[in-house]
Amino acid sequence: MNAQRLQLIVNGLVLTPGAPAAAALDILVQDGRIRELLPRGTPAPADAELIDAHDRLIVPGLVNAHTHAHGGLGKGAVGDRLPLEVFLTGSAALNGSRTRDDKYLSAQLSAVEMVRKGCTAAYDLFVEFPLPSVEGMNAVASAYQDVGMRAVIAPMIADRTLYQAYPGLIESLPKDLGDSARRAATAPYAETLRACREIFDDWSFDRDQIRPALGPTIPMHCSDEFLGGCRELADEFGLGIQTHLAESATQAVMAKQRYGKSLTAHLADLGLLNARFSGAHAIWIDGDDMRRLADAGASVAHNPLSNLRLGSGVAAVREMLDCGLAVGIGTDAANTSDTQNMFEASRLAAYLSRIRGPQYQDWVSAEESFTLATAGSARVLGFADQLGAIVPGAFADLVLLDLAHINYVPLRDALLQLVNGENGSAIDAVMVGGRFILRGGKLLTIDEEKLRRDAESARDRLDGANAEARRIAHSLEHWVGEFCVAHGCRHQGPHRHLRTERDLSSQKSSQ
Ligand SMILES: [Zn+2]
Repeated sequence: MNAQRLQLIVNGLVLTPGAPAAAALDILVQDGRIRELLPRGTPAPADAELIDAHDRLIVPGLVNAHTHAHGGLGKGAVGDRLPLEVFLTGSAALNGSRTRDDKYLSAQLSAVEMVRKGCTAAYDLFVEFPLPSVEGMNAVASAYQDVGMRAVIAPMIADRTLYQAYPGLIESLPKDLGDSARRAATAPYAETLRACREIFDDWSFDRDQIRPALGPTIPMHCSDEFLGGCRELADEFGLGIQTHLAESATQAVMAKQRYGKSLTAHLADLGLLNARFSGAHAIWIDGDDMRRLADAGASVAHNPLSNLRLGSGVAAVREMLDCGLAVGIGTDAANTSDTQNMFEASRLAAYLSRIRGPQYQDWVSAEESFTLATAGSARVLGFADQLGAIVPGAFADLVLLDLAHINYVPLRDALLQLVNGENGSAIDAVMVGGRFILRGGKLLTIDEEKLRRDAESARDRLDGANAEARRIAHSLEHWVGEFCVAHGCRHQGPHRHLRTERDLSSQKSSQ
């Protein structure tokens, strides 16, 4: 039998969600989990390894409630000023032609960026064409494992293309483009579900570190039969389901047209909402939808970076919290938010709430934002009370920030300075399960120079291989954009864009 491994992290300043302020505490870690918080200077158990955290602020590793491993290799490939649906027209151009090694590499790029920016666990919806595969999912899981992060990884799946999802879209395109959009197809859903089952049957990773889930990508892109199949599979294997829920106004409008009710109501009627369900973005939902989600014990991943980048709108986080809905914070992929920086996402979650109105008591506070990005996201990942807090029983997933860094000079209020000022540049060390994966600013688990060389060469090869798909995507952009603006503007109900007088008058003239 193995002897217990004890570590005592001494002399640090500990900040955990829910605590009134940072406190001078020592952290006793046993076999990768926090056993006890002790007053600073408590004598160490004789066999404990001592870790000196003098001049360090210790916070729980941030938890990313929504990202995509395939985005790592897509950095810089997404044009400026693209709304969601226009971005989606480029999906094949962005993610096509990838080998097993490319999938591993993309996930590793994403994971390294997260660790370097203070994140230790992520919910990852990963896409493969034409079908999810054991090989591809294992590549992504291995990438996270090799970097040393925790992850929940869901094959991102659909049985309708964008053109099949939105009635009238194909007809709105010029004939040649409409014909090519008509030819695009997804795999039949039974085949996709069979591939997912194979992945779950084969799962060999430690589920405390890396566990699978299911990611029906966007409800409109999935038939009811397919969503029902996802629900059954998730129930059978006890897995989470995450989907992009009402991310754009167009989705909300098209859903009403197709189902005669909101997307959330549609998912509720299909029996998908439960404590293992999370909706990413959830911008275009109303109070009834929020209550449906809250009553089912479901959760939401709020992605302020991506929501701003794609102009999707401002999610009503205060209303969600008021009705008891669990909320976490995510970055979304590196190709839709251009960074995997959870510090920036947390800051934006707080600041973005402040352009919704002058009622400052309704703004998301720094303390709330810190809680959402740690314990809140842990709940979305299905790791409630295990991650995102420095408390007995939780995993010792910790970030040590250098208090001599200019961000904290002078140090007055660690929480405010962390949420409002930190961007990851003060990170000195990152620990996952009691093991340092980054220390003294150096990543200890993988060779970052090799990572760069591999990424540069993959970029050249993939950009060449996907040139034709990119050309087609560009030719569709204008038409898809026009269709979605016209439909999105018809949204009835609570609005999530700040609309100018010009927007309102052009909407009136188009009606
Ligand atoms: Zn996403």
